[in-house]
Order: sequence, then C-alpha cells, then structure tokens
Amino acid sequence: MQKQTAKILVVDDSPLQIEHLKKCLHRSGFEIFTTTKSDEAVELVENLLPDLVLLDIMMPKKDGYCICEVLKSSAATKDIPVIFITSKNERQDKIKGFCIGAFDYITKPFYTEEVEARVKNAINLKLSQDELKKKNSILEILAIRDELTVLYNRRYVLKRLDEEIERAKRYNRVFSCIMIDIDYFKKINDTYGHPIGDIVLRYMGEILRKSLRTVDIASRYGGEEFLLILPETDLAGTKSVAEKLRHIVCDAEPPESLPKDFKFTISLGIAIYPYDAESREKLINAADESLYTAKGAGRNCWRAYQNDLKNLSER
Ligand code: GH3
Ligand code: MG
Ligand code: MG
Repeated sequence: MQKQTAKILVVDDSPLQIEHLKKCLHRSGFEIFTTTKSDEAVELVENLLPDLVLLDIMMPKKDGYCICEVLKSSAATKDIPVIFITSKNERQDKIKGFCIGAFDYITKPFYTEEVEARVKNAINLKLSQDELKKKNSILEILAIRDELTVLYNRRYVLKRLDEEIERAKRYNRVFSCIMIDIDYFKKINDTYGHPIGDIVLRYMGEILRKSLRTVDIASRYGGEEFLLILPETDLAGTKSVAEKLRHIVCDAEPPESLPKDFKFTISLGIAIYPYDAESREKLINAADESLYTAKGAGRNCWRAYQNDLKNLSER
C-alpha cells in the first residue's frame, strides 16, 4: 500500500542483540536506526520520528518503561508505536508495558519470524494512520478554503467576522472590512472565455495573499467578490490598503498565463467597525453600499462608508 521505506529505531544496551534484530529487520526492507544509549533514546526519537520503536526494558541509566512513558506524553511522539522486546516475561511486566501505551510486547529469546510479523503489523497500522491524518488535514483545509483561489471561503470569513466583532466589542477596538469586486468581469469572461476568468480570480487570490498582513483575513465571498477583514485597522489605514490593492491590480504586470497586455481593475468598498455598523450583516451591507458607490463613481476606485456618505474619497 505505502511506497516509502518505514523507519525503525532499535533501543537496546546489548550491541549483540541490536545486530541480531538489525539482520532480521533489514530483510523486510525497513530502514533501521539503532542506539545502545538509553539516555539518548528520547532525543533520537524526537529527531528521527521513526515509524516504530523497538525498546528493551532493562537498560542502565534509563529503563524502557520510562522512555515509553516520555514518548507517550509528548504530542510529537505519542503516535509512534512502541514494541517492548525484553527478557522480562512476568505477567505483571507485560501488563505494565501495555498500561503505559506499548503497542506490543515480545519476550526474549524471540523467533525472528515472529518479530518480523509483529513489526509489520505495527508499521502497517502506523502508516495507515499517517495517511488518514494527512487526508484529515486536507479535508480541514478544504472546509475553510475556496478551491479556486485558495483564499478562505464565505462560511469561514463570516465566522471570523463574528469573532472579530466579539473581540472588538470586548476590548473596545476598531477593525475594518473591505468588499472588493472585479470590474466588468462578465466582459472578461465573454471576451477571453471562462478559463481566463478563472485565472484572473486565482491571480486576485495571489495578490491578496501577498499584499496583506498575516493577521488580515482575505476571502472569496462570491463569484468575483472578495471580502477582507483587517483587524486593528482604522479608516486611514484601511484607505491606504484599499488604494494599495487598487494600484497593484491596475498597474502590476499580469502573469504570463493571461493574454498579452491584459488589464483589469477592481472597485472597493470600506466599512469600519464600530463607526459604520456594529452587526455582521450591517457591516457587510455598509461595505457593499460603499462598493456600489465606487462602481457608480466610475469603477477602479474605493469608497468609504459614512453615515452621511459625505466622505467621498478620491482615486
Ligand atoms: P461590475 O463592474 O459592475 O462588477 O460588472 P461585472 O461584469 O463584473 O458584474 P456581474 O455581476 O454582471 O458579473 C459577474 C460575473 O462573474 C458573472 C459570472 O459569470 C462571473 N463569475 C462568477 N463566478 C465565476 C467563476 O468562478 N469563474 C469565472 N470565470 N467567472 C465567474
Ligand atoms: Mg459582482
Ligand atoms: Mg464585478
């Protein structure tokens, strides 16, 4: 199922025992790392992140139980299976091993075929768990991102807007929203085709990711609409962000994947919490209204919302 070579760390104070295990595990195609120094085992596991630890119990300096306990208590190493391989063969020893999180327990002297089989079981389970974790993290990303632009999606930005309102209300802070809409996007689609329209949307995503601070939230709100949340940003700061974005889109060299001499512009609408509105819907409406004013003013510009709409900004 899995192509990568699984890594195994063998911890045993006896070099002879290590050699023996190494020989039998190499046959199965695993990559084997070894140490006889029990007091260095935890650090080695942390650096190496093996897929399995084969651990002796009775060792000078630090015993295997203690090593296993440390590994199981750390988020980075707790999912690495540990198989005890030991001459301690009392029932209580085995129970203790399993109680502190061992995956398996093998007693010495051992049959090499049995070790191989048990090791393969542990590794298979570990690798399929890794695969599952990877898929889960992809799913988590897909749940909050827009597939085309990789910006946050509408659902996520609305949730973050609620959180930002809560935070700003509690600490008496200010923040802003910018609603962006690509000008004459329908014409771009009609003239160059839908795939070029998609490239423009991706390019917009790239511009927003590159131009904003890491604390800012950029989302694809709808077809060719983008909603930004700028925490801790007042009207003056938001105006300069809006102007910067307008300028980049209008004047920057577009990517080679777009037709030669291709140009497009955006219009932007600004709303400031708490001055323009205090609820999520009203804030978005305010940003939308500002955007509408910008469109009416000829596009390729930004407008800030004010209760009296007197504060019309310049291009
Ligand atoms: P305005 O300057 O007033 O904003 O005009 P506009 O043409 O940009 O506005 P309109 O709302 O009429 O057009 C939006 C277009 O966006 C229409 C729709 O087909 C297109 N669109 C929406 N989503 C996508 C998408 O995912 N990919 C592409 N290529 N086009 C899309
Ligand atoms: Mg639109
Ligand atoms: Mg548009």
